[in-house]
Amino acid sequence: MGSVGNHVALKFKPVVFSLSSWHIILSDKVHGNHHAELENRMNEHARIVIIGGGIMGVGLLYHLAEEGCTDVVLIEKGELTSGSTWHAAGQCPNFVGNYNLAKIHEYSISLYKKLEQLTGQSVSWHTSGSVRFALNERDLDWFRYVQGIADNVGFHMEIIDVDKIRQLNPFITTDGVLAGAWTRDDGHADPAGLTNAMARGARNMGANIVRHNRVTDVNLLPSGAWEVVTEKGVIRAETVVNAAGCYARQVAQMVGTDLPICNIQHHYLVSGPIQEFIDREEEIPVMRDPYASAYLRQEQKSGLIGIYEHDNLAEAWPPGGLPEWEADSELFDEDLDRLMPWLERALERMPIIADAGIKRIVNGAIPHPADGPPLLGPVAGLKNFWLCCGSSFGIAQGAGCGKYLAQWMLHGDAEINMTGFDPRRFGTFADESYMKAKGCQDYSMTYATPFPGEELPAARARRVSPLYDKLKARGCVYTEAFGWERPKWFSPDGREEAYSYRRNNVFEVVRDECLAVRERVGVLDLSGFAKYDVTGPDARNVLDRLCANRMPNVGGIVLAHVLSRGGRIGAEMTVTHLAENHFYVLSAAGAELRDLDYLCQGRQAGERVQVANVTDARGVLVLAGPQAREVLSRLTDAPLDNASFRWLRGKEISIAGRPARALRVNYVGELGWELHPPMEHLEELYDALLDAGADSGIADFGLYAVNSLRLEKAYRGWGAELTNEVTLPDADMARFLRLDKEDFTGKQATLEQRDRTLQLVYFEVDAGAADVCGSEPIYQGDDCVGVTTSGGYGHYVRKSLGFGYVPPQLATPGTELGVDLLGERRRAQVLQEPVYDPANERLKM
Ligand SMILES: Cc1cc2nc3c(=O)[nH]c(=O)nc-3n(C[C@H](O)[C@H](O)[C@H](O)COP(=O)(O)OP(=O)(O)OC[C@H]3O[C@@H](n4cnc5c(N)ncnc54)[C@H](O)[C@@H]3O)c2cc1C
Repeated sequence: MGSVGNHVALKFKPVVFSLSSWHIILSDKVHGNHHAELENRMNEHARIVIIGGGIMGVGLLYHLAEEGCTDVVLIEKGELTSGSTWHAAGQCPNFVGNYNLAKIHEYSISLYKKLEQLTGQSVSWHTSGSVRFALNERDLDWFRYVQGIADNVGFHMEIIDVDKIRQLNPFITTDGVLAGAWTRDDGHADPAGLTNAMARGARNMGANIVRHNRVTDVNLLPSGAWEVVTEKGVIRAETVVNAAGCYARQVAQMVGTDLPICNIQHHYLVSGPIQEFIDREEEIPVMRDPYASAYLRQEQKSGLIGIYEHDNLAEAWPPGGLPEWEADSELFDEDLDRLMPWLERALERMPIIADAGIKRIVNGAIPHPADGPPLLGPVAGLKNFWLCCGSSFGIAQGAGCGKYLAQWMLHGDAEINMTGFDPRRFGTFADESYMKAKGCQDYSMTYATPFPGEELPAARARRVSPLYDKLKARGCVYTEAFGWERPKWFSPDGREEAYSYRRNNVFEVVRDECLAVRERVGVLDLSGFAKYDVTGPDARNVLDRLCANRMPNVGGIVLAHVLSRGGRIGAEMTVTHLAENHFYVLSAAGAELRDLDYLCQGRQAGERVQVANVTDARGVLVLAGPQAREVLSRLTDAPLDNASFRWLRGKEISIAGRPARALRVNYVGELGWELHPPMEHLEELYDALLDAGADSGIADFGLYAVNSLRLEKAYRGWGAELTNEVTLPDADMARFLRLDKEDFTGKQATLEQRDRTLQLVYFEVDAGAADVCGSEPIYQGDDCVGVTTSGGYGHYVRKSLGFGYVPPQLATPGTELGVDLLGERRRAQVLQEPVYDPANERLKM
């Protein structure tokens, strides 16, 4: 997902936490013998306790201290770095295809370069640069896309030809290599040096570290504080952070949760000294090669090769279980058979390493999350329990993760979009088999080129609607969100998508689906929507306090946003007031757990309100298009005319003899209803709609079509346009603020927002064969002034469309901007209003 540019540094006001309600309740254990055992350095209470002294925990400690929060204790069971960190190869690459993760890497690298100077602790930083190989044109398109991220985030990247690759590394064979992505400023360091330097910096600022002290339990006290039980005594904390690396699941289990992290063994091999390296002054860049699924670099005067093998991963540590608590600085026996044929290919690339012979093999555990990005953020259902773990590139990410997580913890928001790192992106569907299958898939794809819309096979179909098989038989191609399989497009002739950064072989198919919705009527199974029944006499109060919009009267529907106390966007919900004391709240599939957290934690003591997550209990069919009324009226006696059932109204009606919640609202900008029957009636309803719609030419459509249709209507998307980086006025959504309401979270900050530096723009691009994906740089003249957040082709209006953030003075309709699409500067014009039906006449038909 895209996010706002780095041109605009968000400013935070210091937040003062009140500790007045802080109770220090010492348990018997502490009052007794163990009290004397408390080390001087470990106080009886701290504002924040971090469990785990690897690079992630220490990176967070350093940045909390930098933000002025020094009442923090980090507790480590062994020595600092004695988990995964000490044996890492220490590479810190800038080349990252995820905009927000790229910012994390870029920050880490820029800090590491000056860390020795800042702390006096040696980190052995080597600016070697790196070159990643493209083997074909599709890889090269990805490089062009990442080049846009580089230009925006501000790190050096250059796409270079094979001659230049050989110039940078005269010892490499370049058979099959088309080009390289050269990132000159990245490099590698000693991971223990980096961690110890940040630890020293944190201590110097006043933070505390206790080593050789295992956390054995974590308990929630009646006061809401946490009791952290350690081998050396008990410590109370307002907030606890799990930074336990490969042990993070065990620590999570102490508080009754689990995490989608699997520990994967990873090898690197170091050769004997190489004469060619001895004879050279300059270090060769790190080489990253998809053919060998390997990195190759110089380690002192030796060679180093690391392999991301594809098969036979010994995924767990120890196999099938969780690590022993006693394990410290643990390495595993090597398993070179598993690395073949990748190792052979790597040695083909750099024969001088093969000639020098292998002298040392390191096989250690990496904590690998299910989907790639680390787990940074709060744990669902718990107050003040955070995660800073699940990083498989922790050396490159440790400092950046610490910086942005510290901002989020202390100020309520980070300055980058944290949606993709929020641990609440996983629910109970992410069980052990899911995390292993996904984690291994992600590990083995480390050097594979990712494509927009790419569907990966591991751990699919965890949550399906009753229509799953039926739609599959009709050609449905599914995409996953929060474990749910959701229709993406329907293949009319069995074709499979040829993934690409350019328009591909599904372009025409999606156009047909869009035209069916615009000209006739379409039906879409969106049962994965998050759904909650919020009931009780205080339901309205709670929702009004939580949301920036005013709650509607019975029968009404509003779009409502939950803001942080800093006024930034946390959630977007559609709220229907179904009956007295009964609100039906809908949210994005991916936000199911996160928004449940907002709703549950938004309640105050004594309030009479219940929040029921009814996501699995109700299905959703979107019926949209000019003939939607005609089709639905064939199945219900309920009057559907405008006087009886207006736009933005919702009620329960009987359809085909079964009750369903019918909401006159949709995300595609047409006359239509979202129908929410009990899940067990979904298939019946779908069949009835297909029968009733046969004469009207009813057609299935999927989420690719939804993206095109919503762009034509300029509807924003949560996680892309609406993120923790921006306020509702920034997103040009001020009409959803009710500043005349008594109070709501974020109201004061919204009122006080001055000198806005960002403005969402909606634009048309003079595109060629590729449309906006999100995260492309926006230019005015030669100046990079912003970033796109999402885009695509509007099939009905025949325009390439997008959203992005720029400084407000460039947001005037008609402003000419440039957007880089796969290395070509394309003309873009800021639009005044939606290109389709700006007056909402179709919705009100
Ligand atoms: C061979 C190899 C090479 C690698 N190369 C690179 C690379 O080049 N670049 C890169 O970016 N990454 C690399 N990595 C990955 C990197 O090592 C990890 O991503 C990173 O170390 C994770 O850091 P962490 O702080 O999350 O975990 P850890 O370093 O494991 O830290 C967690 C700490 O928590 C402590 N702990 C756990 N439970 C408790 C408890 N109950 N009480 C107190 N303390 C506890 C542990 O003792 C441990 O010290 C490599 C990994 C391997 C195996």
